[in-house]
Amino acid sequence: MGLNETIQAELARIGQTAELNITGGTADAFTIRGHQLTGTTPRGLLQAVFELQDRLKFGQPLEATGTFHFKQRIFHQHFDGARATRADVRYIARLGATHCLVCHDWMGERRRMQGYVTSPIFPDAVDKEVVAANHAALRRLLNDCTDYALGAMLWLTELPCQGGPWVPEPERQRFLTRYPAEVLSDSGSYEGQVLCFSHPRVQEYYRDLCRRFFTEFPEIETIFLFGLDSSGRFCGPACPRCRGMSLFEQRDRLIRFLIEQTGRHVLTTGWEWDRESDEFLRRQAALPASSGVYLAAQKDGWQCERQNHSFLRTVRQVCRERGQMFIGYDNFHWGDDTVHNLGDVQDFPLGIGAKLRRWREVDADGVFDHWGCFNENVWSNSVACREFFLNPNADMRVVARRQFGRAGDLVFQAWQELEAAHAILSDACSWTPAQWPAWYDFRAKREGQPRGAQLPPRDHFNPPDAGRVVGEAWAAAYPHYEKAVGHLRSALEVAEDLPVGYAHWYDGATITRREHIRRQLLYVESVGLTGREIGMQFGYLAGKRDPQHGAACRAAADFFRKLDQPKGWAEQYEQKTKEIDHDGTSH
Ligand SMILES: [Zn+2]
Repeated sequence: MGLNETIQAELARIGQTAELNITGGTADAFTIRGHQLTGTTPRGLLQAVFELQDRLKFGQPLEATGTFHFKQRIFHQHFDGARATRADVRYIARLGATHCLVCHDWMGERRRMQGYVTSPIFPDAVDKEVVAANHAALRRLLNDCTDYALGAMLWLTELPCQGGPWVPEPERQRFLTRYPAEVLSDSGSYEGQVLCFSHPRVQEYYRDLCRRFFTEFPEIETIFLFGLDSSGRFCGPACPRCRGMSLFEQRDRLIRFLIEQTGRHVLTTGWEWDRESDEFLRRQAALPASSGVYLAAQKDGWQCERQNHSFLRTVRQVCRERGQMFIGYDNFHWGDDTVHNLGDVQDFPLGIGAKLRRWREVDADGVFDHWGCFNENVWSNSVACREFFLNPNADMRVVARRQFGRAGDLVFQAWQELEAAHAILSDACSWTPAQWPAWYDFRAKREGQPRGAQLPPRDHFNPPDAGRVVGEAWAAAYPHYEKAVGHLRSALEVAEDLPVGYAHWYDGATITRREHIRRQLLYVESVGLTGREIGMQFGYLAGKRDPQHGAACRAAADFFRKLDQPKGWAEQYEQKTKEIDHDGTSH
């Protein structure tokens, strides 16, 4: 199609014609004067059309100007990276994206170039039918992105390896048949054998892959390089070719190679790498201007987190001095720090404002939404992204009223309470999701530990006083969760069974206001109950027994029992409740 056809189609949706102008400029900005639509850029012009649609829908005057902050606004097409409908692309364009990060594939073959193209050098690297399907899907996705004025970026987890214990053993064995044994080395980790980049044949392979991939998909502008997880590794110390090259040295060799071969930006990240923070900074400063960083304040980002600490600012400063791109890595929709697989709607629009203010303070070149959204449910966070990109002081009460009609004010009050809780919890996010219920194993009771200590901390994740800090933060935050739950219950009573106000952002069936609020309630209640228990557990580990711990554990057990999901959670909380009661820590 192309952008012009898209704009005409978007105008046709609302039965409008318009006079269209592009004036030129760097930021994406727009002006609406009646039916005169002006954009500084093609993307800005498309935003004028989107703005016109919203204004007609909500009965606002057809006079407006807007400028989007941040040069790069990077979003996934959908939480499910395999899914990339045109409706999803349109949705992220509406929320203000400049770029689509075309995959964030944790387990499959879309996280490496050989998942999309086949080189005759190692033709068995990925199964042919997988390559064909990925190639076709990426081509469609990039065409849709072009139609909606979106650039594209790619997440790579190089170098490919056998993968850890979560990869089924037959698949781990199969990896050894995909590449000749002579080009593999031991990663020195539980992820087994890895492709060795010191082998000339491997470098030849990657030269060929880069040429083939970027010939097929020239739209990809930037590579997000991960490493050290998600079946991506480098060689261990025993590799006879790498001869003790450090992980950083191997990473940087690959970055320079990719920049040279592709002419693209290649970004590093903090995940596992920033444990050696001085080395991380020294290394980043030595990388070329076409490198850069996508960095979360804490590992993967947390929904409640809006920290602006010295390491973040120092990395930003290094990138500025080197002319490198600096992207804020964050959760603007779904988060790891929630209870998984509940089908909840994780709205916290005021937190989006707080997060973006932080990235503005850091003067980030862009922001990146780590996981993406469930667009078919039209989360209010998406609307918040657009509103706060345009105006740091945007009013979310207006958004709540549009989205939820007569329940809007009550939902807004719930968001205010949630924001109060998030502000309290932000500085307590010094640990990783390893402590979150979806990640830790309740049953991993370590022998000889006092009762109740079976939930980790894995000590290296936690600062010495994490127990106290996390415990106190949750104790202060939980009352706000309770209040938010109360407001959402009241909202549910008055909510209409009408589509949510921003349903027109998504092509296809969306959920009703009532259903949306019911799922928000599920989110706030599940996170509140599990968080309160985690806080007490951390407090206990810091030597402070909360007499309510047993009751908090029982409340979580009852909640998940009634919900009947996630699998096994009710039993685990029930078991823990018994242990706490038995130990006399419950009143
Ligand atoms: Zn090696």
